[in-house]
Amino acid sequence: MDAATLVDYAKSLDCVHCGLCLQSCPTYRLTGRESSSPRGRVHLMRSVAEGEAPADADFAEEMEFCLLCRGCESVCPSGVQFGRMMETTRGALSEAVERPLVEQLSRSFGFATVLPSRAWLSFLAGLGRFAQQLGLPQLAGQLLGERGAALASMPTIPPANERALLPEHSPAEGPVTGEVAVLEGCVMPELFGRVNRATVRCLTAAGREVHCSRGATCCGSLHAHNGELDLARRLTRETVEAHEALEARVGTELPLVVNSAGCAAHLVAADHLFEHDADFAPRARAFARKVVDFSASLDGPALERLAARLSGGPARRVAWDDPCHLCHGQGVRDEPRRLIDLLPSVERVPLEDSEACCGSAGIYSVLRPDTAAQVFAPKREAFERSGADCLVTANPGCQLQWDAGLRRAGVTAPVLHIAELVAERLPDAPRSDGA
Ligand code: SF4
Ligand code: SF4
Repeated sequence: MDAATLVDYAKSLDCVHCGLCLQSCPTYRLTGRESSSPRGRVHLMRSVAEGEAPADADFAEEMEFCLLCRGCESVCPSGVQFGRMMETTRGALSEAVERPLVEQLSRSFGFATVLPSRAWLSFLAGLGRFAQQLGLPQLAGQLLGERGAALASMPTIPPANERALLPEHSPAEGPVTGEVAVLEGCVMPELFGRVNRATVRCLTAAGREVHCSRGATCCGSLHAHNGELDLARRLTRETVEAHEALEARVGTELPLVVNSAGCAAHLVAADHLFEHDADFAPRARAFARKVVDFSASLDGPALERLAARLSGGPARRVAWDDPCHLCHGQGVRDEPRRLIDLLPSVERVPLEDSEACCGSAGIYSVLRPDTAAQVFAPKREAFERSGADCLVTANPGCQLQWDAGLRRAGVTAPVLHIAELVAERLPDAPRSDGA
């Protein structure tokens, strides 16, 4: 393996070994090992690049053990771009590492076939729903023990009518405060169609004309996270092109509102995937500047209009948990809190260590469920200490992780996306948790 392509050596030189990142790192907190800390990983990368350490299985394991939560970036005084370094290294490793055949096939099927295809996603969601209705995942869990546990704990797939795609155009309610596009996402319509609908409901109530493109399915965020950089580049390019085509059809530039923190963090930095593509890089840069998180998109007159429409809704004491890719990846911290504090009959209570990773981390909780559960444990304890009766976040993976983690511990509090919490306070809205 060529160390020069494996490590972003120039970026690794930014680290001054101060150690301020250690306590922000979930894998260091779990193991206490320097090699599992951000400083240790940067040192490993640099040693490999300088030929002083081998790029062997131990090195690959340490790179994959990282959650890529980017908590280390928020506390680093030297501005080490840890996320980008890790994506580069994982990209090189994914080409160089010989994986077992079953893993190769399932990665290829998941990343190259399913995620980019609306037809595959929809087919598998329908199949999964059918299997859940027959109780097959639970049966597999009983018969296969640990090997069937992942199937038994898969999220509940909603009925077909809740998996419908968003309309291509949703008109503003009342005077128009602006036009936006929303990113529908790949798994969002299949698992969290209700979150997408709540997002559009909030935006239209805020006076936004909302457009939705059908031109792309997956934005490539999960691919970049897992080192599948060629596929990530292809899907990100398709997302940029679909947005440009939508703007051409509508006849104006459109901010792209994203309700999944992981996707937004990937897309706001879309240009870095095209650093070596002089033709496409300016288009990716222009696109990236238009990407905006859902809460951050609601400001000025739009926020005032939304606030004027809010009333009632169930009384809730909510704890807001910052998704890593919202706070560390996009620097969005105040906007969700500002939005929650506007809501009638909602009291926001503090959640200790709300910026710590919940263990979801893309597909990390599927690949390493035991570590993900250990990372989650202090989050659940903090939630129980907070006195909240509802957990609110803004990323589908975090929602699944919180939901499964609280259920496992016998905690029945609902887990909502912030758009759901807002939407249930708009006229004619049902309770988000169905109670
Ligand atoms: S990205 Fe997260 S898990 Fe990885 S080194 Fe940084 S803090 Fe630790
Ligand atoms: S905080 Fe930044 S500079 Fe300090 S050890 Fe960690 S990565 Fe290096």
